[in-house]
Amino acid sequence: MPLMTAEDYEESLRQLNLVVYMFGKRVENVVDDPIIRPSMKAVAKTYELAHRPEHEDIMTATSHITGKKINRFSHIHRSVEDLVKKSKMGRLLGRETGCCFQRCVGMDALNALSIVTFNIDEKYGTAYYKRFMKYLEYVQENDLTCDGAMTDPKGDRSLPPHRQQDPDQYMHVVEERKDGIVVRGAKAHQTGAVNSHEIIIMPTIAMREDDKDYALSFAMPSDGSGILYIMGRQSCDTRKLEGDTIDRGNVLFGGHEALVVFDDVFVPWERVFMYKEHDLAGQLVENFAAYHRQSYACKVGVGDVLIGAAQTAAEYNGVAGASHIRDKIVEMNHLNETLYCGCIACASEGHREPSGTYNVNVLLANVHKHNVTRFPYEIARLAQDIAGGLMVTMPSNEDLKSSETGKWLEKYLRGHSDIPTENRMRVLRLIENITLGTAAVGYLTESMHGAGSPQAQRIMISRRVNMGEKQRAAKKLCGIDEKE
Ligand SMILES: Cc1cc2nc3c(=O)[nH]c(=O)nc-3n(C[C@H](O)[C@H](O)[C@H](O)COP(=O)(O)OP(=O)(O)OC[C@H]3O[C@@H](n4cnc5c(N)ncnc54)[C@H](O)[C@@H]3O)c2cc1C
Ligand code: SF4
Repeated sequence: MPLMTAEDYEESLRQLNLVVYMFGKRVENVVDDPIIRPSMKAVAKTYELAHRPEHEDIMTATSHITGKKINRFSHIHRSVEDLVKKSKMGRLLGRETGCCFQRCVGMDALNALSIVTFNIDEKYGTAYYKRFMKYLEYVQENDLTCDGAMTDPKGDRSLPPHRQQDPDQYMHVVEERKDGIVVRGAKAHQTGAVNSHEIIIMPTIAMREDDKDYALSFAMPSDGSGILYIMGRQSCDTRKLEGDTIDRGNVLFGGHEALVVFDDVFVPWERVFMYKEHDLAGQLVENFAAYHRQSYACKVGVGDVLIGAAQTAAEYNGVAGASHIRDKIVEMNHLNETLYCGCIACASEGHREPSGTYNVNVLLANVHKHNVTRFPYEIARLAQDIAGGLMVTMPSNEDLKSSETGKWLEKYLRGHSDIPTENRMRVLRLIENITLGTAAVGYLTESMHGAGSPQAQRIMISRRVNMGEKQRAAKKLCGIDEKE
């Protein structure tokens, strides 16, 4: 089924037997759990839009393996145009959902592995690429959602994996068998983990010989034996338990992250894509990170929603015409479109790797992500400025509906007289949701740390920038002759 519908996707998740814990208890029905379900609906949007004729060009692609039409989330970029469409897809979905729609991590893992498995084979004469392509075809043919799992818990950050007091702080192999390997460890902060059919493991950092047992990449079905999920908490998450309330802010969608534990999991060889080739672990990390830094086109889409909400709040408050408000909206748009420039630029300057996969311009992808660590915070600050304090002092949905207090809220929370009080409350709750609530996980803190904390981009920028060329240009113009 190369193109699942949103309904097929939901049904396919019901067939999984995931071991999920939340608030100290096993979640028996993951798909219908009120806290998890909005995040499932956000992923479902990636399936739904692929069937909409107006989005077909962005949301689908032609498989270079089978020639069939597939969802772009399982596609391997074959051109610069593919990379640009990926950035546009991220913005589109961010705008449609107003949150993290989760499916990009898997797409980025697949693309990074399509480069690195080829390069390992070139160096060592192994057969990972063929193995990976078979797996990729399975993912494409079944239109699967994959969790891209890179981040280990890492324990003491100053120590490499083999020197950690607890050897399980990084995922590692504990047993080699004839038919596969047994692995132990965990992956932290896993976006969309319980909405995924597959989980693709990659190493977190570049490694040396001593760490070779940790230089692993493989894929497992998400409900594989020995894998368990502990759901992360998000600020204001239990508002989702309150039913169809406006206090949720985003009444349709949400994201989620989980800690995923691998408690001695058996992985058959046909699903292993890197095994102890420690010298190529760093290459896999860099490629995945660069692709995922490009994927932060999603923040532009969520930024669109936040700017739209701020403009609406200004209108409802009766201040939309004030010059400083108009200027703040311009500033928000300027920052948001600057982010868009970054993700389009690193795609437009993409290049072909030896495997035939197109990669982003790594320097520009890092510059883009570095802007992402800052601009959404400033956009959020301006949105809160425009929204006013009511955004955080407003009574609840229940107070609005109450026969005793409702009339007072109707009266005293009204802004512009033409606008129903409830609408004003709704848009302020949406701003709260994106800047302080569940969606702030994706819009703010993930902008900071996701795909690597800011320092990781600064290191890449210093490595990738062509300083020699800059110095040559400067010296030439001021008459410094190096030969002398
Ligand atoms: C919402 C969210 C979703 C995410 N989704 C995914 C996902 O789907 N898949 C995935 O694989 N990962 C995911 N991540 C993980 C993300 O890549 C990490 O958060 C990121 O790499 C930073 O790691 P950390 O959170 O452990 O922070 P830390 O490593 O603890 O960093 C904290 C600070 O310490 C600094 N620091 C860390 N190590 C060192 C060192 N050795 N020397 C000096 N300074 C250091 C950092 O620069 C930073 O300033 C997600 C993260 C978030 C927040
Ligand atoms: S944060 Fe953005 S890029 Fe990462 S998975 Fe979520 S939507 Fe995709």
